Amino acid sequence: METIECLIIGSGPAGYTAAIYAARANLKPVMIQGLQPGGQLTTTNDVENYPGYPNGITGPDMMDDFKKQAERFGTKIILGTVTAVDLSDVKGKSHKVTIDNQYDMLAKTVIISTGASAKYLGLESEKKFMGSGVSACAVCDGFFFKNQDVVVVGGGDSAAEEATYLSKLCNKVYLLVRKDQMRASQIMQQRVIDTENLEVLYNHETLEVLGEKTVTGIKVLNTKNKIENIINATGFFLAIGHNPNTNIFNGQLNMDEVGYLITQPDSSLTNRPGVFASGDAQDSIYRQAITAAGSGCMAALDAEKYLSDLN
Ligand code: NDP
Repeated sequence: METIECLIIGSGPAGYTAAIYAARANLKPVMIQGLQPGGQLTTTNDVENYPGYPNGITGPDMMDDFKKQAERFGTKIILGTVTAVDLSDVKGKSHKVTIDNQYDMLAKTVIISTGASAKYLGLESEKKFMGSGVSACAVCDGFFFKNQDVVVVGGGDSAAEEATYLSKLCNKVYLLVRKDQMRASQIMQQRVIDTENLEVLYNHETLEVLGEKTVTGIKVLNTKNKIENIINATGFFLAIGHNPNTNIFNGQLNMDEVGYLITQPDSSLTNRPGVFASGDAQDSIYRQAITAAGSGCMAALDAEKYLSDLN
């Protein structure tokens, strides 16, 4: 089996940036794209805060640009998912990575940029309507609720963004915030307030998603006055944060209690030699495309240094 110099797991901003740097350093990187090629940004609409795009850009277009730039320098991109890893704890010994439960690859360095995935509330009724009324991606599914009433859950920037996006398509959007205030940035909150057909319901929790075959309403609880209510809506969108995609590294790499990979200070180094972590899989604080890209760059530079120290 051929041993690759640098294997990159995941294809969000961190993975592609690592690929650009690794390819330009002649490490001949191979990228395993993962379940969601392009990562979370492919499910977002306008990105307005990434430097270099003064007029903004859509998430999918931006990731397309990243991909083209990585390919331009020779990154080999494989459509597949890493299903298991056997990470060596001996410096200089290769790591084994299994793709789609079907074949193995050996790599001297592994850069992890597996990102994070949307969280759900965990209600039985939510599961029942997954894909038929319940969604964690307004950009992907909003179109199906054109001129209808929908509910969005969450109080962060994602919720504010999803709710304002849906307000352009839907008749009415209800935003359920569990506390008496939103966590979203001031500019996003202002957009929510300025949107006529968007109503924020503070101190509201979801009890049940109602319906037979499709969603017809959401049973909610006002936690302040303990009054239950039913909101007539056909769509239910979650925007309550994310979990890091790091399960396959359990027992091999150090992670915090939530599952974020722990890296050594000011570096992308994990507890295994030659394994580097970048992007949302290791960042529970900033979680921005630009910080993910920056940490992907760090991982590639760390991988390059590790390889040159071996020789
Ligand atoms: P956040 O973690 O910032 O916010 C999650 C929100 O969901 C919080 O309001 C939280 O409530 C709420 N929540 C969590 N669990 C539940 C639950 N079980 N029931 C009801 N509500 C719940 O996640 P985001 O995805 O919004 O943002 C992640 C990061 O990405 C942030 O740093 C954000 O700034 C950034 N981002 C930036 C964007 C932009 O600039 N364009 C767009 C989207 C995200 P509570 O506050 O009560 O904990």
